Amino acid sequence: MYIVQIASECAPAIKAGGLGDVVYGLSKELQLRGHAVEVIVPMYDCMRYDQIWNLHMAYEHLHVPWYGGTIHTSVYCGWVHGVQCFFIQPHSHDNFFNRGCVYGHNDDYMRFTFFSKAALEFLLVTNKRPDVIHCHDWQTGLVPVMLFEQYKWLGMGNQRVCYTIHNFKHQGLAGKDILWATRLNNEAYFFSYDRLRDNFNPFGLNIMKGGIVYSNHVNTVSPHHAWEARFTDVSYGLGHTLHIHQNKFSGILNGIDYQVWNPETDPHIPFHYSVDDLSGKSKNRKALRERLWLRHENKPIVAYIGRLDQQKGVDLVHHAIYYSLRRNAQFVLLGVPTGQAIANRFWHEKHHLNNNPDCHLELSFNEELAHLIYAGADIIIVPSNFEPCGLTQMIGLRYGTVPVVRGVGGLVDTVFDKDYDQTHPPEKRNGYVFYHNDPPALESALERAIGLWHYYPEEFRKLQKQGMRYDYSWRRPAEQYLAVYEKIRHKEPPPPAPPTPPSPTQTPQK
Ligand code: ADP
Repeated sequence: MYIVQIASECAPAIKAGGLGDVVYGLSKELQLRGHAVEVIVPMYDCMRYDQIWNLHMAYEHLHVPWYGGTIHTSVYCGWVHGVQCFFIQPHSHDNFFNRGCVYGHNDDYMRFTFFSKAALEFLLVTNKRPDVIHCHDWQTGLVPVMLFEQYKWLGMGNQRVCYTIHNFKHQGLAGKDILWATRLNNEAYFFSYDRLRDNFNPFGLNIMKGGIVYSNHVNTVSPHHAWEARFTDVSYGLGHTLHIHQNKFSGILNGIDYQVWNPETDPHIPFHYSVDDLSGKSKNRKALRERLWLRHENKPIVAYIGRLDQQKGVDLVHHAIYYSLRRNAQFVLLGVPTGQAIANRFWHEKHHLNNNPDCHLELSFNEELAHLIYAGADIIIVPSNFEPCGLTQMIGLRYGTVPVVRGVGGLVDTVFDKDYDQTHPPEKRNGYVFYHNDPPALESALERAIGLWHYYPEEFRKLQKQGMRYDYSWRRPAEQYLAVYEKIRHKEPPPPAPPTPPSPTQTPQK
């Protein structure tokens, strides 16, 4: 099969979060299975160019229709660790992708609308006709809209779209200017509730909603989050749309790259180890302490790795620092704050705890340190408010670092409580789960984990090994995506959805 992925990230060249890992990991696994995969991404000035091989001009003069004229665009080609990527570089005063960061500008909706248009135009003029176009998140939600409203009539009638939603919180709310920019034009047509009109803002077009309505298949990144998206408020106002399109909506758990995340071969960690011999793990713990100036004492290291964002449960992360210190454990945090208030709070904590020999807060993005923490820590916490899938608990399991998680989204599908899980026998359980979003709930799980480490070390080791034996590689997810691709390949493009009642009763969360 010939698959083209269109996305705003592809790790490790472009990575702001889990999306980049997924685009890369899935592409590589599909390739290993003999499928032809290409990835189209923007050419950001802030990409890791050292992670791209043989970058060269692929198409110099692409004229992308934009408002009444065109934008002269060049497309480069290069290999990101074996995955072929095409990089879209517009030459316009808008400077869409030369902003020093991937996201965070007021005109993000325009930047990625242009990217979506340019990606389709590139496929059109180069005669690339993939069986399946796989789009990700709101940034590429307009691809299926333009494919089935415009490009279908220009010779791309056989392409089908799989649309993966990694985070419902960011939906790409835009004005009618995106219609005029892309030449979709027909305002009355697209401003209807059964197409792109936002369910709660009558003056806004919702790009993610467009992706859901027009794609042949829609999925989010874990089965439990798919359920939550339909029946709770975590889809941020799109529950009604998902209900209408329920027949083409599913949840497919993400995988992690088992070559990148492998304690037996990881080049970023000083001591390698495996499920059969965990001795290297305690040596890594020692190395981690030396690296972060922590004292060497007989206590476990509790870690947090991830964005410091409301989504990730920053209040509970903060609470876990002091709770761990009180319970005779050390704490290591690696994360980038996503807002000024959170940054102020954690920088304050960092200064406050600066001389504490049991704690280190690292407020930066550091891939290599992340590997050492996964290898050297004993427990990893993921106390998210909501979590579409979550990669850190899966990486933790791979490195024998016991996850303590809140039971939401993909965390429910991957971590099974040692003491209370009802669905797995004791020898298949791999961590600790709590449900309420408050400190006592977190404490109830973290206390059990730290207690097991101190008082039943053999049991703790058993739990570590049980986690390491889980297979959260891309093997199974790739099979599930291939089944979806096969199914939609033989399907007609979806007709526009039937008219729906104008105002759903849920309250928007935006
Ligand atoms: P998100 O919601 O941010 O996508 P995920 O759990 O799905 O969260 O993925 C997070 C990925 O980013 C993991 O691979 C994690 O190791 C990595 N990561 C997050 N923050 C940092 C950081 N500060 N330094 C290094 N890696 C990080």
